[in-house]
Amino acid sequence: MKRLCVLMACLAAACSSKTTVADAPAASSQQMPIGQLPRIDTDKVLEHTKVLSSDEYQGRAPGTKGEDLTVAYVADQFKAIGLKPGNTDGTYIQNVPLVGITASPAPLTFSKGPQKQTLKWKDDVVAWTKHVAESASITNSELVFVGYGVVAPEYNWDDYKGVDVAGKTLVMLINDPPVEGAFGGKAMTYYGRWTYKYEIGAEKKAAAVLIVHETEAAAYPFSVVQSKVTEQFDLVTPDKNMGRVNVEGWITLDKTKDLFKLAGQDFDTLKQQAATRDFKPVPLGVTASMTLHNTLRTIDSRNVVAKLEGSDPALKDEYVVYTAHWDHFGIGPEVNGDKIYHGAKDNAVGCGGLIELARAFTQLPAPPKRSILFLSVTAEEQGLLGSQYYSVTPIYPLAKTLANINIDGLNVHGRTKDLTVIGLGASDLDSYTAAAAGEQGRVIRPDAEPEKGFYYRSDHFNFAKQGVPALDPDEGIDFVGKPADYGKKVRDEYTENRYHKPQDVITSDWDLTGAREDLRVFFAVGYRVAQADTFPQWKAGNEFKAKRDVMLKK
Ligand SMILES: [Zn+2]
Repeated sequence: MKRLCVLMACLAAACSSKTTVADAPAASSQQMPIGQLPRIDTDKVLEHTKVLSSDEYQGRAPGTKGEDLTVAYVADQFKAIGLKPGNTDGTYIQNVPLVGITASPAPLTFSKGPQKQTLKWKDDVVAWTKHVAESASITNSELVFVGYGVVAPEYNWDDYKGVDVAGKTLVMLINDPPVEGAFGGKAMTYYGRWTYKYEIGAEKKAAAVLIVHETEAAAYPFSVVQSKVTEQFDLVTPDKNMGRVNVEGWITLDKTKDLFKLAGQDFDTLKQQAATRDFKPVPLGVTASMTLHNTLRTIDSRNVVAKLEGSDPALKDEYVVYTAHWDHFGIGPEVNGDKIYHGAKDNAVGCGGLIELARAFTQLPAPPKRSILFLSVTAEEQGLLGSQYYSVTPIYPLAKTLANINIDGLNVHGRTKDLTVIGLGASDLDSYTAAAAGEQGRVIRPDAEPEKGFYYRSDHFNFAKQGVPALDPDEGIDFVGKPADYGKKVRDEYTENRYHKPQDVITSDWDLTGAREDLRVFFAVGYRVAQADTFPQWKAGNEFKAKRDVMLKK
């Protein structure tokens, strides 16, 4: 679950929030009013939550007994409901191979002739490799400053200008280029995120990518980056992640300025140039060397997947995918006398919601025309890995996947007059959501903190990144019959005392009446998309639209 500063969350600061709401919902003659949809049983949601967040389930960490119990529980529920195995091999399981990589401390050395500059591990540089190998290194690799390192055709932006940077070590700025009339303004696009920087480096076949850490642009201090010197999890791809750059890292602003001096350049001047479309890569005439030694640990984790087959023979090979991550942090450091990270709200309750949503789907007079996939994914808390695995190794083609609707946490404090849509303005799914909420007399609202980039911080993002329109609904903040600041109060209390702590447990004040209404909205959206005459689309200018258009050959 995404919420404020924790390792992955904080490192992920970015955003999208162009606030355009709802034109007409994609109408369909088969549209069923929300009030006529089968009920969702929130007593059962609470029962599932109790089981999944119990001591016995040990905090549901991937690769533990907690995983075995959780995966068995969710799969058994899907089966009992009467859903078909979601995997084509006849099981309710998709295996997800994970690796934990811990790099041993190592210095980073810059050289220009006889002159050397050494960056100290953790103090000045934080680096790792995603290569599933005992070591990874760069040796006298030429440093090139590539500005923001961005290639964004929809903004007519290319920081590389055809310069071949294969084998080089790229020095990049964090965030989007600060330019009027392009990218997301105050809200960061995906091009501004740290994960993008490493990905574009790999695409350009660079040897390494070093991101310059600037507190304001990154939206978090270097101490947050330093917390990444612990074990890093990743998927094990068929190439053992050898397609990634050898070394991914961050360097401090001070040491960057020293590096530019060594190169005979001025950092601030080049940074200004990087904010223009004319910018070209600048070779620094300095080389970089670093060797990382890894400790590796492999984990065989699992996504749980079930299917409700569509009723239209011509359309049943097309899918709407609901996701809810089952994992949490397991057993960890003790806080206030508890060391089991129960993750009741994050995301036992979302799994309970997914199961009961699935049951409600089976109670429709007839299944929707298209098929519905219920996917409970692993390792969200380790970097959205289970959903990433599905998105790059999908069981059913993404070109035939109409939409993803993600459940990460549910409102446990009663009814609201509103429903938050993170990244509002991204796709046609907003219109569906606004229409369904509207039938309940409710409104949808954008995320209150667009600069924090929540849209990139839960499982739906992996679908978006592959081009599939993805909806990330979040609880409302305007509670029925409560003071105006109640929503903020309960949210802050959770963030402060419970989020990603053992204290994320069911408390006596839990009230799922609001969650019931939210789940009905998610139900209506998925159902109507599954019945619709057309696929939902990304809005013009969205950074994921081009990928979808290519996929659908438009
Ligand atoms: Zn979480």
